[in-house]
Amino acid sequence: MKVIKSVSDMAVKASRLVQGGKRISFVPTMGNLHEGHLSLMRMAKPMADILVVSIFVNPLQFEPGSDFDTYPRTFQEDLKKCEDLGVDIVFAPMESDLYPEGFQTMVEVSEVSKGLCGDFRPGHFKGVATVVLKLFNIVKPRVAVFGEKDYQQLCVIRQMVKDLNLDIQIVGHPTVREPDGLAMSSRNQYLSPEERVRAALLYKLLKEAQERFEKGERRAQALITHVQTGLAKDPKIAVEYVSIRERDNLKTIDVVDKPAVMALAVHIGKTRLIDNIFLTS
Ligand code: AMP
Repeated sequence: MKVIKSVSDMAVKASRLVQGGKRISFVPTMGNLHEGHLSLMRMAKPMADILVVSIFVNPLQFEPGSDFDTYPRTFQEDLKKCEDLGVDIVFAPMESDLYPEGFQTMVEVSEVSKGLCGDFRPGHFKGVATVVLKLFNIVKPRVAVFGEKDYQQLCVIRQMVKDLNLDIQIVGHPTVREPDGLAMSSRNQYLSPEERVRAALLYKLLKEAQERFEKGERRAQALITHVQTGLAKDPKIAVEYVSIRERDNLKTIDVVDKPAVMALAVHIGKTRLIDNIFLTS
């Protein structure tokens, strides 16, 4: 496994690989790798000849006052996990190399970035789209895998790829969960043991809503109210949003008569958690 830290070295290496007829698959991450990330890599590995994983905690996607400084950084452990998994190249650029002085271009995917997390994390999806486009240009993948856990992010990337005519296949990977249903996330480790127990409620309520949908409930508000009422019973959980959107374009929906996604974001103590579930008949 090669570890490349320089942007220009990665770009040259990727160009040589592509010129030599190799197809690159790509999994961008912020490191602190857990089973969710590793599943994405396992999916991406057989999709091309060379698997590249990036590890970069992207300052552009953290709002002021959020957890950029404290975000868990575990580079050596991450490298070991990548090596064991058969990753060919880990690309871990320095911030100053990816965003040199004078950097000023941002990518904005206007509609899909609005609502849901977009309302609570101003500038977040601009930061995500910008870094992902830069990484795509440097790594030159034919296919890239993203987690459905960050469903709005996946929609933003798909829209950007479509709008900007990028020749890259975007593949979504189902959310990987802990045994009690909590979606795996680097931020779960911020939870106290007591908060960690409470966090299982998120997926439990999403599953209940999905079951109600499967039994015939089609009113979005009825399903949302079920989840909101359940969350409100725990005084330590502060809800940001619970919403049902069309699955493919994230437009709001009153009657769930087409494929949809139910998404939520909450705070448990200082930790912000997101999750979602599909509603499809
Ligand atoms: P992050 O390191 O949080 O930026 O995540 C890197 C990639 O891993 C993104 O595409 C995430 O959606 C994906 N990911 C993170 N957690 C999970 C999970 N529990 N299940 C599936 N994918 C995940």
